[in-house]
Amino acid sequence: MSVLGTGARASILPKNDLDQQDNSFGPSNVTEEQFNKITDAIVDMWQPLAQLHGAKLVAIKAWNDSTVNAYAEQSGNEWRVRMFGGLARRQEVTADGFALVVCHELGHHFGGYAYKDGHWASAEGEADYFATHVCARRIWGTSTEKNAQLAQNRQGLTNACDAVWKDQDERNLCYRTTDAGLSLARLLGALGGETMPSTESRDMNKVERTVTYHPRAQCRMDTYLHGALCPAKFDLKVIPGNPSAGAGRNTPEAEAEAGKYSCMEAANFQVGYRPRCWFKALNEAKFGDDDGDLLTRNWRNLW
Ligand SMILES: [Zn+2]
Repeated sequence: MSVLGTGARASILPKNDLDQQDNSFGPSNVTEEQFNKITDAIVDMWQPLAQLHGAKLVAIKAWNDSTVNAYAEQSGNEWRVRMFGGLARRQEVTADGFALVVCHELGHHFGGYAYKDGHWASAEGEADYFATHVCARRIWGTSTEKNAQLAQNRQGLTNACDAVWKDQDERNLCYRTTDAGLSLARLLGALGGETMPSTESRDMNKVERTVTYHPRAQCRMDTYLHGALCPAKFDLKVIPGNPSAGAGRNTPEAEAEAGKYSCMEAANFQVGYRPRCWFKALNEAKFGDDDGDLLTRNWRNLW
């Protein structure tokens, strides 16, 4: 059963009072026109996929609302993405960062396993992973010229992108996705009063059980980066672990299904997997925790 605020919807950020700072930082990176266009364009791309699941996607665009957040909601077969100008106006948020927020909200609807416990929505980390592994690739994958242009002024370190992707177009897409993630991670860092996350750092914490609420800023940055690095191909028609597919939400079977379309450490992926700072696999990893240092070393060598 769901309760409004915690159960009925999933958000991009924990509850916060940043709305009180709205318009106090000068001009924003995202205009009202971009806010509307970006939201509509991404939601339109997923509309046919929602129909496959008997749902209708609805974008609610509240530019004048100062709330620094965004929500995914489901009411019957209406799947909503609720966007607020207060988030888009934050100085940390670039147009691409904002697009990634829309992607994150779609991730709650379409990302599948791992889910929030007893909830229709994918876990926060999963929505982040979907945003860069699946959504960013779909919305920016064909914009090769723009990606190349943006690559000239990239913010984040790119050795990891270069190590995984051999094709320059793929590398440029990886840079763009990573930079969008960095924009959001910086907002998260500002929100939590945390050390500013970076593409060079990594959250070394290892959870004992998958965390389904909002991870810390660096952990989310790690997830954005890993999503951008995962070479496994997602099947857009599938919501892995969705009970309607018989896989059953947060079960080992659902995890195995998710593993078909993403990178799992258990399948020996050394990059691109859901980071251990929020994700703990249910299925036995081929390399257990004892080998974690080896994996870490390999991963860090990509920097
Ligand atoms: Zn969320």
